[in-house]
Parts: sequence; C-alpha cells; structure tokens
Amino acid sequence: MNQIVGIPRGMLYYDYYLLWKEFFNNLGIEVITSPKTNKDILNAGVHNCVDEACLPVKVFHGHVDYLKDKVDYIFIPKFISIYNKEYCCPKHLGLPDMVKHNIDGLPEIIAPEINLKKSSKDLKKSVFYTGKYFTRNSKKISAAFDKAYKQFLEYNELISIGVIPISAVGLYDEMNLKNKIQIEQYKAKILLLGHSYNIYDEYINMNIVNKLKKSGIKIITAEMVEEEKIRYCTSKLPKRMFWTHGQKIVGSAFALIEEKEIDGIIYVSSFGCGLDSVLIEFVERKAKEFKMPFTLLTIDEQTGEAGVNTRVEAFLDMLEWRDKNEDNISTYG
Ligand code: SF4
Repeated sequence: MNQIVGIPRGMLYYDYYLLWKEFFNNLGIEVITSPKTNKDILNAGVHNCVDEACLPVKVFHGHVDYLKDKVDYIFIPKFISIYNKEYCCPKHLGLPDMVKHNIDGLPEIIAPEINLKKSSKDLKKSVFYTGKYFTRNSKKISAAFDKAYKQFLEYNELISIGVIPISAVGLYDEMNLKNKIQIEQYKAKILLLGHSYNIYDEYINMNIVNKLKKSGIKIITAEMVEEEKIRYCTSKLPKRMFWTHGQKIVGSAFALIEEKEIDGIIYVSSFGCGLDSVLIEFVERKAKEFKMPFTLLTIDEQTGEAGVNTRVEAFLDMLEWRDKNEDNISTYG
C-alpha cells in the first residue's frame, strides 16, 4: 500500500513545499497538503496551540490537525539555520516538538534538523535522515533529492522574474511554466513585505495580494530581489543581522528604497512577533529617510477584514494623491 506524507500548508511551506514534494514523489511517496487556511483551520489552530504563540504558529497547528487522520507521516522540518552563521526564529526550531505536545493522536512526525550554520553541505544529512524512512538505498535518496532540487531552482527562477510564489505554485503544478506569465500594466509598484507565511497565506492577510492586484498594483516581494543586493545592503548595518529572514526583509527593502524602484511599502506582521519588532524599525527608518510611503498591517486571529481594507485603501489613496502633489502628502498610511 502506498505511504502518504502530509505537508502542512503553513510556516515555511511557502518557501520549500515544492522541493520536498518533488523529493517525496521522486521516492515514490504520495504527498498531500492541507487546504488553504480557512476558518475551521484557524479555529483548530487556536484551540490546539498556546495563547502566547504568534498567529502563523497557531495556523500551522490547525493545518497539522487537519492532516493528522489522513496521512501516515507528517513532515515538519526543524529549521535551525539555512545560511552560514545565521539562524531562523526559535519558533521554527521548536515547531515539531510544540506540535507533538499540543496535538493528540498524531501519526509519526518526520522532523529532520535543517542546520546549515557551518556548511550548506549539511543539507544532505537532513535529506538522508528523511529518505531513510522509506528506503535504505542512499543512491536512490540522493538522486531523488538532486532531481527535486533542479526543479526547485527552476521554480525559484520564475519568482525572480516577478511571479509571486502563490501564483508560481499554481503555474508549476500545471507544468506550464514561463508561457503563462503575462506582462501587466500597473498604476504603482508596492513592496509587500513580511514573512512568507504572512504575505502568501491569503486567509491570514485577508487576501491582500488580490486586493492590491484588483487596484492595479504591481506587487514586488523580497523573493524577487537578488540575493547579492540583499546581502550588500544588510552589510552596511551597524551590527551583523544574524537572522536569515531578517536579512531578506531588511535587505530587499533597503535595496528597493535606495534604487527608488517602488512607490511604497506595505509590511504585514503578526502581533507579538519579536523579530518583526526589530525589522520594522529598520525598514521604517529607511523609508522615512527616503520619503518612501510605508504602512504596517499587524494581524492576529481577531483582526477584521474591514479594518485591513480601510488601511489598504487609505494607503493607496495617499499614493495617488502624492503622485499628483509630490511632497505635500504624509508618507505614512
Ligand atoms: S518570525 Fe515572528 S511570525 Fe515568524 S515564527 Fe517567529 S515569532 Fe512567529
């Protein structure tokens, strides 16, 4: 009988889903994911998780709860470090253990440690750890991963040329890659900033991507900015930024602000996120220095869609007025 691995649609799903899905498929393992976040998933997450956790962690619990009776294994990597001498938020590291303690009746959790603090070669250890659940054949595991990685790079290339990841997953699934990309006309270019699970989970952020697209806005995300530029910009900070996701958020914002490549920034943050409290400060200061319009949307499970709509509309109106009357309008939405 076919074995099934469940990948919860939360946290770093938006960054690495395709890599792991292809890897499991190449090993002959079926993968299912939980559906897009909805009210039931959020409620299950809130019910199963501690109150103090940030919204994305609660939502992740809801996705695990959805999958638990439908799969043989649930895949929850323990992300410690994904870049040399840098770290992820501790919540990523603790995620598999948190889930195991909070949710009853789980199938086996596959929780490889991803720790590339010393060398990116250490990724192979996590790959073998995972693959060995299904085969003892190391060559087969290695070949399955190498093939998956090639496909993953192809997907990342799509994002670097301007396809936002949530659309790219759909394009990729249809196996109809570049010919589906359309050159759009747009009124303004906005950098949608924040952790991937905040900006690509349509339920968490009240579908902000669609709202902006409908208003004729071209959306840029940190994934579309070249890594070299990001690293160069963060290298100018007075202290080394040792969070990889912080590098990406701050570096992409700095690069696009300095190059005047965007008309404004919308930062989507989860209430109580310690990392964001520092990152927002950096980005906001830079935006002020360059008179770049900036607004912050802080979300938790109580956030109402009407409030988000009002904030976004007010920000877009301000951009339009500012465009007609440069410098006389406040740059803060
Ligand atoms: S970075 Fe912030 S939002 Fe992300 S897991 Fe950590 S606390 Fe939660």
